[in-house]
Amino acid sequence: MEQLMKILVIGDPTVGKTSFVHRYVNNMFQTDYKQTIGVDFALKVIRWSDTQTIKLQMWDIAGQERFTSMTRVYYRDAHAAVIVFDLTKRSTFDGALKWKRDLDSKCALPDGSPLPAILLANKCDLLSGERQLQLSEIETFCRENGFIGWTEVSAKEGVMIEEAMRFLIESVLAKT
Ligand code: GDP
Ligand code: MG
Repeated sequence: MEQLMKILVIGDPTVGKTSFVHRYVNNMFQTDYKQTIGVDFALKVIRWSDTQTIKLQMWDIAGQERFTSMTRVYYRDAHAAVIVFDLTKRSTFDGALKWKRDLDSKCALPDGSPLPAILLANKCDLLSGERQLQLSEIETFCRENGFIGWTEVSAKEGVMIEEAMRFLIESVLAKT
């Protein structure tokens, strides 16, 4: 069985969306990405089991697109979303909520339930000493805003990327 899955990757500019996708799909990190214009696509084919193949289509949406009518077009027929923020930049955490609301207002599963969405706190490799955001605050935020889960990740060092995506894919499969 082959299944197509459309995953949205959204969040404010420079939080590391393109880096996340590149790490997940190609297992690489580059420091010199061009700013995403519009939307970038990446395809990853996963041999999920002996009988099941998943064709994962990652939609990496430029952060500037927020609240424009274009997001509705990009969101169409998506199965799940990854909302990314930068752990070292609080404004992007606030941005994550705006993205979640934009998503939920424009997009739902065929049965009317919200799209499964995970929250990724990127750039955890940069954390040292004092945190701008307490874990309990992120935890509460996640629960109150209907994320199915969250984790700290580092696209740069490849921390928790694979695990986060596996969790998201499993929850999509559980719904179908
Ligand atoms: P986007 O605008 O959300 O697509 O962000 P990019 O992927 O273009 O990344 C923006 C900047 O953050 C780039 O300079 C990246 O090298 C850097 N960056 C992305 N992910 C990480 C990470 O996990 N750790 C660190 N230290 N830098 C990162
Ligand atoms: Mg980008």
